[in-house]
Amino acid sequence: MARERLARRPLTTHTARFAPSPTGPLHLGSLLAAVGSYLDARAVGARWLVRIEDLDTPRVVPGCADGMLRTLEAFGFEWDGDVLYQSTRRDAYREALAELTAAGRTFRCSCSRKDLATDDDAGGYTGTCRSGPTRTGPTSVRFRVSDEPIHFDDLFQGPQTFDLASFGDVVVERRDGLASYQLAVVIDDAFQNVTRVVRGADLLSSTPWQVDLQTALSLPRPIYGHLPLLLEADGNKLSKSRHSVPLDPSVAPVALVSTLTHLSQSPPPELAHSSIKEVWKWAIRHWNPPALAGKANVHLSA
Ligand code: GLU
Repeated sequence: MARERLARRPLTTHTARFAPSPTGPLHLGSLLAAVGSYLDARAVGARWLVRIEDLDTPRVVPGCADGMLRTLEAFGFEWDGDVLYQSTRRDAYREALAELTAAGRTFRCSCSRKDLATDDDAGGYTGTCRSGPTRTGPTSVRFRVSDEPIHFDDLFQGPQTFDLASFGDVVVERRDGLASYQLAVVIDDAFQNVTRVVRGADLLSSTPWQVDLQTALSLPRPIYGHLPLLLEADGNKLSKSRHSVPLDPSVAPVALVSTLTHLSQSPPPELAHSSIKEVWKWAIRHWNPPALAGKANVHLSA
């Protein structure tokens, strides 16, 4: 008994998090990110936090955050501490922006989406407004990225190197005055002492910006792990008509077991007929991160 208690004690002081945006109900893709992050956390004895990224107010769906939390509970996730809502953190983002500006790392940009579409074709924002807005009207604020290549070792995707110059300067305050996702996520990961960021591979290309922002703000850098992305059989993003439907808690064990399969964890098929508790017990005991090495996409059957 004593041995079991000891074995369950946190091995480290790591903190991990799942950070959904309440813009639509959780679906199979979100479940994969939540399960991967949860298993990674439990395997290293990390705290596991839930943060609701409800910053993009025009896209937030009323009631969605509560629905997400109920779904997570129904799927047997147990998070530590209180849920943090980004909508309560605006002062912190403003302070960080002021710090970046004082350090000469920001500039106002008047480029419209249309201008950017042209820039994107050229491989990223090309720095049009680096010496000041090129026209009157609303402006966003951009972070001047560093010239140094960004290196990090991804838990699943291996060593990564990005040249931020080809990505371009990233928006930190949008034209509507809201802090951008890239800034908010960096500030909140640091605020919550997050040391392990395990999330979908769709965010792998955001990580170099986040690392550069951490360096500029003298914030610690978490360990990153990007999980394979669930795609339709034809290679497209999950579509509403097929797999991007709200998770149904009444079939939680089945959904969890197929998620484990998508995470290359080889669960025994009969596990789908067990209780949620049994599924988690198996998944935590058998979590095998090397099985995910280099896996960037998982195609669902049609
Ligand atoms: N809120 C983001 C999303 O739902 C995830 C942010 C993150 O994990 O860094 O896609």
